[in-house]
Amino acid sequence: MGGHGIMSAMDDKDLGFSTRAVHAGQQPDPSTGAIMTPVYLTSTYVQEWPDKHKGYDYARTVHPTRDALQKNLASLEGAAFGLCFGSGMAATSTIIEALNPGDHVVCGNDLYGGSYRVFTKVFARFGVKFTFVDSTDLKAVEAAFTSATKLVWIESPSNPLLRITDIRAISKLAHSKKAKVVVDNTFASPALQRPLELGADVVVHSTTKYIGGHSDVVGGAILTSDEALHKEYKFLQNAVGAVPGPLDCFLLLRSTKTLALRVQRHCENAAVVAKHLLAHPEVAKVHYPGLPQHPGHEIAKAQMSGFGGMISLELKGDLERAKRMISSCRIFSLAESLGGVESLISHPASMTHGSIPREERLKAGLQDGLIRLSVGVEDAKDLIADLDSALTKSLTAK
Ligand SMILES: *Cc1c(COP(=O)(O)O)cnc(C)c1O
Repeated sequence: MGGHGIMSAMDDKDLGFSTRAVHAGQQPDPSTGAIMTPVYLTSTYVQEWPDKHKGYDYARTVHPTRDALQKNLASLEGAAFGLCFGSGMAATSTIIEALNPGDHVVCGNDLYGGSYRVFTKVFARFGVKFTFVDSTDLKAVEAAFTSATKLVWIESPSNPLLRITDIRAISKLAHSKKAKVVVDNTFASPALQRPLELGADVVVHSTTKYIGGHSDVVGGAILTSDEALHKEYKFLQNAVGAVPGPLDCFLLLRSTKTLALRVQRHCENAAVVAKHLLAHPEVAKVHYPGLPQHPGHEIAKAQMSGFGGMISLELKGDLERAKRMISSCRIFSLAESLGGVESLISHPASMTHGSIPREERLKAGLQDGLIRLSVGVEDAKDLIADLDSALTKSLTAK
């Protein structure tokens, strides 16, 4: 293919994030010049001679649209290798599938509810052991290590309390004990935080969220520069088979092109909304790492280039009032998930985190009345007016 010297250099690490977001992993289709990577709807590939082919034999094992996405996401996280999966949970599970019975994982105690569920209800049955600790407390993390600890699993910012864990410090600690560090970077996205640059070994994403950004696809990814780990995960991707479909890969490739733009607007809007809520007389607490009074603010400033679009809050009054408020919004849709262009509002205790026992939730600081916002890219003034109106409506019982 001639005339595309520039394109082949598009994976260059010296290029900026937005340039790589638009170009990395992609080149004009060699047969037509189509600028967009085709959606190859095929399950198999014709071979010239038994086992003589163009590098593609079967679509669970290797797929060109998926390849492009894997390279693109690896470039965005500054990783040597990328693998994509059919969901964030499939990516998460793959990392644990690489462990053996008796192996131990130290986990943050403010994790996505589905991660907690698959760890405790699925992988615990196969003999993998999990300890949940406050990962913002380095001493607590250190005390949780055993001689069998193979992984430390953290989210920062965490879900739903937006706690900030010092990724550099955790990585140093884990490496001194020969354990690897996995960061679920779903909330920040690589546009704001690149854990591998901070010392982590593996990044996992639910690409359903900010990377997808339009609430129209479910997906997951694992990014790492550790070749041995990558080989194991790649083996599992094919052996277990939790691969994404070609159209989903295409949608995600299209999404990453605008990731930096979208995330910038998410951050701007969330900053305005958080400040407004903080000053609101009916709001008891606002959790947003961009607020100077947030306990993780300084660490967030050091390891993130923006504070993201997620906010959680507690209202004055009882749980019923919180539920009334959540149900009274017009622009914020009451729904699980996050990271899309449209604003969402949810109630973690009964929705995303319902699978965590109440006492565990309370121990981790997740109050029954906590409300979570995924601030979209609409006009900030409309979002504020919507929240204000819902707060007023929630004062009067239905
Ligand atoms: C949504 C989410 C997941 C799970 O991803 P799915 O794509 O829904 O399977 C994992 N971690 C975090 C932080 C999430 O928000």
